[in-house]
Amino acid sequence: MSKMQTLRVPENESDTLVAALAAGSLDMHRLPAHLSADEKVTLRRQAMERKRGVDLDHLGQYSLDAEQASTQSCENMIGVAQIPIGVIGPLRLRGEHIGDEELHVPLATTEGALVASANRGCRAITAAGGAWVSAENVGITRAPVFRTSGGQQTRTFLRWVEEHGEAIRAQLEGDSRFLRLLDIRPKAVGTTVFLRFRFDAGDAMGMNMATIACDRVIQNLIEPETGVECISLSGNYCCDKKPAAVNFLEGRGKRVHAEVLLDKHVLEKVLKTNARALVEVQYRKNLLGSAAAGSMGFNAHYANIVAALFIAAGQDPAQVVEGSLGITCVEHHGPEGVYASVDMPDCPVAAIGGGTGLATQRQVLDLLGVRVDAERPGKAAMRLAEIVGGAVLAGELSLLAALTSRDLARAHQRLGRSGER
Ligand code: ADP
Repeated sequence: MSKMQTLRVPENESDTLVAALAAGSLDMHRLPAHLSADEKVTLRRQAMERKRGVDLDHLGQYSLDAEQASTQSCENMIGVAQIPIGVIGPLRLRGEHIGDEELHVPLATTEGALVASANRGCRAITAAGGAWVSAENVGITRAPVFRTSGGQQTRTFLRWVEEHGEAIRAQLEGDSRFLRLLDIRPKAVGTTVFLRFRFDAGDAMGMNMATIACDRVIQNLIEPETGVECISLSGNYCCDKKPAAVNFLEGRGKRVHAEVLLDKHVLEKVLKTNARALVEVQYRKNLLGSAAAGSMGFNAHYANIVAALFIAAGQDPAQVVEGSLGITCVEHHGPEGVYASVDMPDCPVAAIGGGTGLATQRQVLDLLGVRVDAERPGKAAMRLAEIVGGAVLAGELSLLAALTSRDLARAHQRLGRSGER
C-alpha cells in the first residue's frame, strides 16, 4: 500500500511550478486546479526540498486520500507525519456503552516505554476482572463575548436572553439533525458578557457545528434584537484547547470515569507493588504535589495516553490539554488491595468529523469498534469516551506502580533511549 507519490505533470511544467513555489512567486495554495491533490502535494514538497536543500522523501510516502486530507484536514499539504502505533491489551472494560468487552487499544507515540507501561496496566485491570467505565455527555461549549455599555445594559441583555430561550434554541439548532442546545450559562464582568452555550453534538466533537450555530444566532437574532455587539465568536470562556477551571468544574465534551479493584495478588504479581506504597505515591505525588504546583491535573500522566489515543484515532490533538485535567484516586480496599479510579471532567471526543475520516484514523476507530450508527446518534462517541477512560486508568496504574518500585528510570533507560540499549 505504501507508495511514493509520482508526478504525472510534464517535466517542464512541474519544474516551472516548483521553481515558482520555491521562489515565492507562486503561493502554495494557488497551484493550477487541473492538478490532482497528490500532484500538488508532490510539487510543494519538491519546492521545499529545493528551497532548503533537504530531503523530504519520507514525508511523501502515504496511502491516505490526499484529496480528502488536503480539502478537509490540512491546507498546503506536503506529505504526512508517520507516528508509530503500538497496541495495548487485552483490556477488559464494562460500561453502559461498551458492554462487557476485552479490547485492544492502539496508541500513536514516539515515547519509548509508554506502550509497554500502559500494556502492563491493561494486564492488571484484566487480571482483576476488568474496569468499570462510564461517560456522561456534558456537551461541547462555545462562549461568544459581547460588549455592553455597563451594568444596566448587561441586566437588560441577560433578561432578554432568559426570555428568548426558545427563539435562541431554534436559531442555534437550525435544521441540524444532530446539534441540540443543552443550556446557556451567562457570565458578566464589567461591560463584558459571555454566553456559554452547551451542546449535544451527537457523534461529532462538535466545535465546528457549535461555532457555525453561534455565528447564526448572533447575526440573525441576538445582535439585531438587543443592539449588543458581539466582539468575538469565541470569548475564551468556552474554554477550548486551554487548561481552565471552568472546564474542570463544569465539564466539557464527555465527563469520563473509570475504576477498578486490585487485590494483593495483582498488585504484587503484575504491578510489582503493594497497596501501602501505591496509596502513598498517589497521596504525595498526585494530590499534594499537584496542589503544591497549582496544577489542575491531579494525576500522573493522563495526557500521555490521551495524546497517543487522540492522534491514533483522529481526535483533535490540541484538546489533549483538556484531557489532561482530572483526579486519580487510589485508596485501601479489602485486605491489602486498592480501589483505583480516574475522573476526567473534560474529554472531547468524536466518532465522526475532524480527522476521524482519514484512512489510518478510521481503521483505528474500526479496531476500537467505534462505528457511527445512524439510528443511535452519540452512541459511538460515548463508547470511545469509555475506552479513553479505561486506557487512561491503565496508564495511571502502571506509572504509579513504577514510581513505587523506582522502576521508571530503569524502564526509560531500557526502552526509550536510542543507542543505549
Ligand atoms: P465538528 O463539528 O465536530 O467540529 P464537523 O464539522 O466535521 O465536526 O461536523 C460533523 C458533521 O457530521 C456535521 O455536518 C454533522 O451533520 C455530520 N454528522 C453525520 N452523522 C452524525 C452523527 N451521528 N453525529 C453528529 N454529526 C453527524
